[in-house]
Amino acid sequence: MIRIHKPKTPPEKLAIDGKQKRRSHCISYSRNPSAYETGTKKFEFDRSIYAHKTVKQALIKAQHQKCCFCERLIGTDGDVEHFRPKQAYKQANGEALKYPAYYWLAYEWENLYLACTGCNQRHKQNLFPLQNPTARANNHKEKIEQEQPLFIDFGKENPEEFIGFRGQVAYAIEGNHRGQVTIDSLKLNERALPESRLQHLQKLKRLNEILLLASHRQNDLELQEIVVEIKEDLKKYISDNAQFTAATRCAINSDFQYVIS
Ligand SMILES: [Zn+2]
Repeated sequence: MIRIHKPKTPPEKLAIDGKQKRRSHCISYSRNPSAYETGTKKFEFDRSIYAHKTVKQALIKAQHQKCCFCERLIGTDGDVEHFRPKQAYKQANGEALKYPAYYWLAYEWENLYLACTGCNQRHKQNLFPLQNPTARANNHKEKIEQEQPLFIDFGKENPEEFIGFRGQVAYAIEGNHRGQVTIDSLKLNERALPESRLQHLQKLKRLNEILLLASHRQNDLELQEIVVEIKEDLKKYISDNAQFTAATRCAINSDFQYVIS
């Protein structure tokens, strides 16, 4: 996971149609809060607004075609994901769903990201744990600013300060709780993710080995030319638009010592 910088101005679809739809959800809730709280009445969210092609396109660009959680390259295959769930939420896995969730943020630009199907539908789903569950904003009249989310909000915080990588394995830096909750909930060390990271890092480790070899053969001009190219390549692999950037940065910073050959 890396920090995501979205443009400040929301796509027009959200600013106009989304705003209108938000208003109608808020009115519906206020008319009959208990029906929404028991889940007997549910909001009908308009996917054609929050997942509109202009919204998706803006997210694809801001996230460099990567899943916000696992940093796999997904191109245009991702889902528009709600950071704070829109219909129902869970404080923890295994708990029953609670209603309503953050219906008033369903079309909010700051609450939307692009995620791969695996991360979004199978793992994050309705989870949104808080450090202080009693301070949860239960409706549009309450403030989300009073909440302390356990998931790292990559739109506002730098995940690399919370989650590091030893080789292909993600770990919570200095054992911090939020990093650990994020890793465990999203299963960042499961579902073939470590294997994919390892394959990627091994390829880079081999490039690094050529650099080491070349440092002892300064007179081999042909090899020195290759070194220039490799250094350029490695720079690309640590830029935000490469896959598994966070893991790659950690591997390079630790001279690939945790990357098994
Ligand atoms: Zn993912």
